[in-house]
Amino acid sequence: MATRRVVVEGEEVLRKHAKSAGPVTPHLKEILQDMVETMREENGVGLAAPQVGIMRRMFVAQPDPGDDATVYYMIDPVITHYSEEKEWGVEGCLSVPDMVGDVERSVAIKIEATGLDGERREFDFEGFEARVMQHEYDHLDGILYTDKCRNLRSAFEEDEEDIEEDAETK
Ligand code: ZN
Repeated sequence: MATRRVVVEGEEVLRKHAKSAGPVTPHLKEILQDMVETMREENGVGLAAPQVGIMRRMFVAQPDPGDDATVYYMIDPVITHYSEEKEWGVEGCLSVPDMVGDVERSVAIKIEATGLDGERREFDFEGFEARVMQHEYDHLDGILYTDKCRNLRSAFEEDEEDIEEDAETK
């Protein structure tokens, strides 16, 4: 495995529609493993192929950074259901370094995707996991969370506020 350079906002590949990933070849698996390594290296919870300059419809996600055993490989994913119920939550993106913003997402989704074994299956996600999947899925269509967020701000300020809040409550 190897890490790959993460493309940042302003580079055109982030704005293009990715093409079908197609059959799960050894080469495709190698790219996906590199994406997992890159995601972990950069302390992300998800990474879509266009973010490493690969215009294929696939992403990896590990919503819980402490749980290395639960990694999702989503090849040619399709979100088949979005709950009507939505909620706002804070998001950041490895392609938009050091920023965060509030994004409204469906609370629950159903997503169908091919796994590393070439089998297609359907997943149900809710809450933070559903948010991660919707964020990564958007990357496949050239959409960044900054297109739909409120209150885009420095992630560093966010940390500072947390520290101040902690100080006040102690
Ligand atoms: Zn992102």
